[in-house]
Amino acid sequence: MTDRIRTGGCQCGAVRFRIKGELGRPSICHCRMCQKQFGGFFSALVTVPESELEWTRTAPSYFQSSVNVKRGFCANCGTPLAYLHPGGLEIAIGTFDNRSDLAPQIQVNYAARLPWVTTIFDQPTYDDPDFYSKQEQIISFQHPDHDTAHWPEHGLKL
Ligand SMILES: [Zn+2]
Ligand SMILES: [Zn+2]
Repeated sequence: MTDRIRTGGCQCGAVRFRIKGELGRPSICHCRMCQKQFGGFFSALVTVPESELEWTRTAPSYFQSSVNVKRGFCANCGTPLAYLHPGGLEIAIGTFDNRSDLAPQIQVNYAARLPWVTTIFDQPTYDDPDFYSKQEQIISFQHPDHDTAHWPEHGLKL
């Protein structure tokens, strides 16, 4: 992978990051702490070069979840963003503006997985045929998937 600039951030846009250089291996982690941090079934994280990461607006807040680990999130909107441990810094894959090449390549702490987690994508699917026409009526306050000169654009206070 050649060096490139990566950007991303939280849902409200108060926390934004910019990363230069090569990322590590994308992973998901089934451990209970990751379930809690993400409010989900597992975390999805990728190791980033810590010295090449810049928080371009406010930095995340951190919760120290164990002696050696801190978990970063946006203090304004709550988006989980970071996993900081003695071996380095990992960023939540879902917060990258472009996630298309960040498919997880390994599952960590697989023994701690929820027993039914491997069957979730076997379930029936449903797509609202009017989803996109409804989207046009939604006034979203979510930060777009690219850097912006000014945010928020709707007069919201961060
Ligand atoms: Zn936020
Ligand atoms: Zn974990």
